Amino acid sequence: MTTSKPALFHRLEGRQAIADLLAGRTDTDVLEVLDGRPALLHLEGDEPGPHRLISVLLHGNEDSGYRALLDWLRSGGRSLRPLWLFIGNVRAATQNGWFGDRFLDDQEDFNRVWGIEPATTRMRICAAQVLDIITAQPLEGAIDIHNNTGDNPMYAIIPDPTAATRSLAALISRIGLIWGTQDNTLMQALEGVCPAVAVECGRAGVAAHVSWARRAIEVFMQAEELRPPDTSGDGWSGPMGEGQRLLEVRFRVEVRREVAFEFAQELSEAHDLSITPGLDAANFGRLHAGTRVGITVPGGDIPFVVLDDTGVDCAPAFLQVDGEGSITLTRDVIPAMMTRSAEQTRRDCLFYIVADLGGTAGEPEPRLPL
Ligand SMILES: [Zn+2]
Repeated sequence: MTTSKPALFHRLEGRQAIADLLAGRTDTDVLEVLDGRPALLHLEGDEPGPHRLISVLLHGNEDSGYRALLDWLRSGGRSLRPLWLFIGNVRAATQNGWFGDRFLDDQEDFNRVWGIEPATTRMRICAAQVLDIITAQPLEGAIDIHNNTGDNPMYAIIPDPTAATRSLAALISRIGLIWGTQDNTLMQALEGVCPAVAVECGRAGVAAHVSWARRAIEVFMQAEELRPPDTSGDGWSGPMGEGQRLLEVRFRVEVRREVAFEFAQELSEAHDLSITPGLDAANFGRLHAGTRVGITVPGGDIPFVVLDDTGVDCAPAFLQVDGEGSITLTRDVIPAMMTRSAEQTRRDCLFYIVADLGGTAGEPEPRLPL
């Protein structure tokens, strides 16, 4: 492999170096060659101009973007503009089986190390060096490809709801999700540099979701401008006008730390809470008032916290527990990013409650009276 080897990540320059890396290798072979280190790849575009950036695998267990990117490179895909391509947490994707971990126990989350100064860890220094390189020349836009751990449609996360960022989201996806609290993500670090969105492509390990990522990559590469061709004044009406929606994260739902739980229909003696399986099918749809979300010990309090953006627990405004321990919603909610993984529930949260701001799909939803 023709690559210089700075301490913290590989750098590959040009189509031939990338072709040499990929030649005769499967997706996992390539990870093996990268030998535990991230990689920053650079490609010229068909036309000069500002660069575009695609990052994949910042979470080592989220394979769709990585597989889609390699597939696109193998097919000889062309980009209109010069490109930076970043492959993130290779160690977490290789150490405990292929695509085994979001991040390893001895690692930080690679999606939370960007723009932290001073950079006191290897991963933060790596992130700072990559940022220095990619921002040394003008950047036109960036997409960071992820997967979820529950069923979700594809959506684009908008950390900074400027017209340009919303337009980029509309180019990539039918659903845009405004989500302001994205501290130290790569996308947040690029705020003020260029429009940047995270693209969530369903669950990892699903072939169809690689296709979602592949389509996002192609649209991003081939766009003359990083906005839908028929963007109106407010930047939010795109080529996917039918059914396009703009939503905003409002509440974060967690299981209380002290509560032992599992995903199951009935309560077992080993747990204090069983969360109803399959609720993730309603992600970006609707869970109606009265929906049973779980069962807890009779006489117990609400075993969830529902945090607003100031950290206040609003659980009693959304949930109630009856005498049998059955936990139900007291109002309709739009859930998003609900996981089906107990580990992910502990590490991050169970789901978010979002508000529908409208779009071409329908009228804006009234704000929750909280
Ligand atoms: Zn992720």
